[in-house]
Amino acid sequence: MHRSRNSASFGRASGFGGRKFKRNGNGGSYSYPKSISNQSRYSGGPKSELEGNTSIFIKKAVGNSSVDNYQTRYKFEDFNLVPALKANIAKKDYENPTPVQDQAIKPILEGRDLIGLAQTGTGKTAAFLVPLVDKIARDRGQRALIVTPTRELAGQINEELHILAEGLGIYSSLVIGGANIHRQIADLSRRPSVVIGTPGRLKDLVDHKHLYLGDFRTIVLDEVDLMVDIGFINDVKYFISLLPRPRQSLFFSATIPPKVREVLTAFVTNPVTVSVKKQNTPENIEQDVIKVVDRSKKVDQLHDLLNKEGFDKVMIFGRTKHGIDKLDSQLTMRGFRVGSIHGNKRQSQRQKILKSFKSDEISILLATDVASRGLDIDNVSHVINYDLPETYDDYVHRIGRTGRLNKRGTALTFVE
Ligand code: AMP
Repeated sequence: MHRSRNSASFGRASGFGGRKFKRNGNGGSYSYPKSISNQSRYSGGPKSELEGNTSIFIKKAVGNSSVDNYQTRYKFEDFNLVPALKANIAKKDYENPTPVQDQAIKPILEGRDLIGLAQTGTGKTAAFLVPLVDKIARDRGQRALIVTPTRELAGQINEELHILAEGLGIYSSLVIGGANIHRQIADLSRRPSVVIGTPGRLKDLVDHKHLYLGDFRTIVLDEVDLMVDIGFINDVKYFISLLPRPRQSLFFSATIPPKVREVLTAFVTNPVTVSVKKQNTPENIEQDVIKVVDRSKKVDQLHDLLNKEGFDKVMIFGRTKHGIDKLDSQLTMRGFRVGSIHGNKRQSQRQKILKSFKSDEISILLATDVASRGLDIDNVSHVINYDLPETYDDYVHRIGRTGRLNKRGTALTFVE
């Protein structure tokens, strides 16, 4: 049986079994509004480059995103996978591969390096886990290292691995910050086949010789762009330098700015590139603005919104941890059941809150940008930008928490 020591418990979306993806004629890539596409990231105080740019937050949903038109080439049965893995995929109700799986699984099974341009929500996790589980099931000496920028994402990957590897005797360890390091050290001493971790904790364990990367022949980097943003990139380069050659490198990123490209290309050999960037783009998200009438009454406006019909599962974004904490107490005082996640919260608190939001115990989640990247939460009805995001990239990431996997969603942005 698959088991993971030190595993966090994360709810997992049930997926979108059976939905067919088709690609539209123009490749469907989403283009940023011209007015801001070339602007650099704002690095000053709490100001947004989007201020005064109200029109970019208004957009009618135009039906489901165009990946709905993607014609899959393969069925899961077409891949030569070990039977138990095939059965686990079937149990998960994954009828057909998603576009990224359709394009990535075969080359990964063939041992190729891969660069995947794909966001969370495209099925990219299974795109690398399915071939990894197969590889380890066939060769028990294989070990894989998966590096992710956030603890939540690491937990989600571990959850999915549990399901895909069930019955195969493949063990994994989750090594993330904010959790007990002694348990992680004990876990690692049992030589799990898969180690999933965040850079800071991984580095600690490597530096103190609890984790020897010399026998990991596969490395997965997930959300490389975010790792670069957060400043983890030197750690990541260091890990790669400790891996043996030959090795298989699988790198996933939603965007490829120059710094990311530098990392991606430096460490791969003759890679296959797959791009399904657009599945989770805002085309199926109704976007509108809320004009702030009176700054001192902004929270009243939010209050009224939250009481409206259909606001069933709402994520509210703020720019600062302090702002989120303040809004948390204001809404709590008004009788709303809310939870909030940001960088100052303990990992155990963050997990607890996420779990209660995923399982609908609370219906409102407040978050800052970094804490929320990559979260896979089903059925978020509304994303509310209580504060403007810093950049348009952040805006796209925020609103991508709703309208996932081709469902309709609504994004509302407060503007002054
Ligand atoms: P990810 O992009 O990896 O976070 O996956 C997004 C969601 O899609 C997760 O809830 C997965 O369980 C689900 N999923 C992944 N692959 C498939 C598939 N082939 N069919 C249906 N659902 C899937």
